[in-house]
Amino acid sequence: MIPQFVDVRKLVTHQGVLAGEVPVAALGRLQALVANQELVSLDSVVVNLQFGQDLERRRVVTGEVRAQVHMVCQRCLEPMSVALSAEVHWALVYNQEQADKLPNRWDPWFVEPDTLSDVCGMIEEELLLAMPCAPVHDEPCQLHALALPEIPDAAPAAPNPFSALTALKGKLIN
Ligand SMILES: [Zn+2]
Repeated sequence: MIPQFVDVRKLVTHQGVLAGEVPVAALGRLQALVANQELVSLDSVVVNLQFGQDLERRRVVTGEVRAQVHMVCQRCLEPMSVALSAEVHWALVYNQEQADKLPNRWDPWFVEPDTLSDVCGMIEEELLLAMPCAPVHDEPCQLHALALPEIPDAAPAAPNPFSALTALKGKLIN
């Protein structure tokens, strides 16, 4: 498990790596989505984050965030497994002015001097952005609905309401 709060200055200085599982308890907004049933479940979250400096001596974090979640398929309304992933391009900033000066390729991570920073909050932000708005099964939905009873293909159990009418028409013509 990686810690929720980290000393970013130390990590940058030592070109540290944060790799491993993310404590789900630290992901409050995602847990709220599960509570609201917007997300079926949050199965696992892993990261690999490299701290260091870019060529312009900016203090940055690169790497990736990956998560396995279950969401409701918007076609069949059954749960489906969704793999979320996002590339991380964070640059440490202390204020909005620094954030505004960042080139587009960097996303600002607002940190405060002499305070530990909430890395899980940033991880959560990336996952929320990576989440599809309307997920649907890749394959035909019924392949995933194993819990449902099988419906035979040729089962004309219900009488066709038009067959009686056709028979009636036949009689009238004759
Ligand atoms: Zn489906």
